[in-house]
Amino acid sequence: MTLGDETGDARAVDPRRFTDMLAESPLAYAAMVESVTGFGIYLIDVRGNVLTWNHGAELQTGLKHDEVVRRPYANLFDDAGRAADLPSQILGFAKYHGHYSDEHWRRRGDDERFQALATLDVVRDRKGEHTGFVEVVRDITADRKREAALYSQATTDTLTGLANRGHFMEVAQQEINRIRHYGDPLSVAVLDIDHFKSINDTYGHQVGDIALKHVADILRQAVRPIDIIGRLGGEEFAIVMPRANTQPAIEFCNRIRIALYGAPVDSPMGPLKISVSIGVATRSSEAPDLPSLLERADKALCKAKRNGRNRVETWLS
Ligand code: GH3
Ligand code: MG
Ligand code: MG
Repeated sequence: MTLGDETGDARAVDPRRFTDMLAESPLAYAAMVESVTGFGIYLIDVRGNVLTWNHGAELQTGLKHDEVVRRPYANLFDDAGRAADLPSQILGFAKYHGHYSDEHWRRRGDDERFQALATLDVVRDRKGEHTGFVEVVRDITADRKREAALYSQATTDTLTGLANRGHFMEVAQQEINRIRHYGDPLSVAVLDIDHFKSINDTYGHQVGDIALKHVADILRQAVRPIDIIGRLGGEEFAIVMPRANTQPAIEFCNRIRIALYGAPVDSPMGPLKISVSIGVATRSSEAPDLPSLLERADKALCKAKRNGRNRVETWLS
């Protein structure tokens, strides 16, 4: 069955039948709308008072018919929405454009709220006179929560809570594109825990995991809000330092290195001293993008390992 079928198929439903149904039996039509549970569907008059209230609206909002009907539409919004004058803006927009559709918070009971996907359409009488609005609302709180959880799963390293490699690469590249526009300096550091394999081998994988979380926590505390940190994989982390030339980047990385060396891992086997090696590369015309910066920082890191570990080295051409 196709609504508004353009092919002339005789079985296609004539939309006029619905108009007829409404004209012949408005009560049956109203009962049908009333019984819908998944959507709030109701009429609002031109002065902005709610006229009807279906079962779905009651389920979503926890507000009963008598608490809503013949009362202002604004009554359906939370304090923040009312303070921002959202209800009258929505009605004004729908009146002007004939239609409104967007997401925002709505009131549930007296102290709760839900994320609503609201669609408003102007209702006109047979003469085309504007008589009010019909609003259809769906509670999308659970959908948005699920999406947020999926996004977090896809972008976060589960063990450390830092950005995973993919997300780090994406955000870091965005930052590089942004500073390229302003011509600000930027440095990248790659940090690797020294002799990490022997921590696993000596104390077990679980203690290795505790050490990784410990390093992540210290990094998180040490960086500036504008820095970007991520776990590249294994016991390797990266930091993007916007507005930092080579010298400040080296100084900053040395502070991190010393902080980590001075803060032993609190393991079930007692305090465990760890060190890290860090390679630093600064953005230049020869290394303008993230892959080339990471490659140079990696080479600097290898140099730090070769030169005895627990040190910071920089890539110099
Ligand atoms: P170097 O000083 O040269 O960096 O030596 P290293 O032992 O730190 O480096 P290597 O690459 O030989 O070992 C890295 C180890 O990290 C091997 C791997 O089993 C371990 N590893 C990788 N991911 C994890 C993880 O999520 N948890 C734990 N516990 N270990 C991990
Ligand atoms: Mg290592
Ligand atoms: Mg490594």
